[in-house]
Amino acid sequence: MTSKEYYVKYYQEHKKERKEYDVKYYQEHKEKIKIRKVKYYQEHKKERKESDAKYYQDNKKRRKIQMAKYRNSLPGKIASIRAEAKRRRNFGYEILFDNIFPKSIKTVGHHISNGFVFNIPESIHLQHLGNNHREQLKPIVEQLYNISYTIVDEVDSLESDINKDKQIESVRKNGNICKNQ
Ligand SMILES: [Zn+2]
Repeated sequence: MTSKEYYVKYYQEHKKERKEYDVKYYQEHKEKIKIRKVKYYQEHKKERKESDAKYYQDNKKRRKIQMAKYRNSLPGKIASIRAEAKRRRNFGYEILFDNIFPKSIKTVGHHISNGFVFNIPESIHLQHLGNNHREQLKPIVEQLYNISYTIVDEVDSLESDINKDKQIESVRKNGNICKNQ
């Protein structure tokens, strides 16, 4: 038997005894141990506070760097554009184009896409409700206002935000009156 094997054997055999001794020791010295712990805690209070503060500061710095990196990355930029688009929608941010119809014609505001509203006669609007509402009305709005535009998927706010500029451009080129831009 090597010395290592002997040691392992001894360790195994005396496991129970050792445990019992530990429990007994703890019971007998309970108070002392408690006091020692409290004392240690008190004595190291300042250090602990400092190390906590340092950790907090370092962590803050790390997070700041990470956030800056994220903001400059493509996913970060997309997220910020999305958040902005959502914020605008929640504020009811809309571009309403001038009503070209006489007051005698009842009109409704039709969203050609997110944030872009054109007045069209209510009777026409009613005839094209349901599926593909926007697609159905696209050629009609284009003809009425002498413009052309692409329909942007409502689900994708990023795309709609990018296309917003293009739509404004397209409206301008086609000589439409644009109220709020
Ligand atoms: Zn509509």
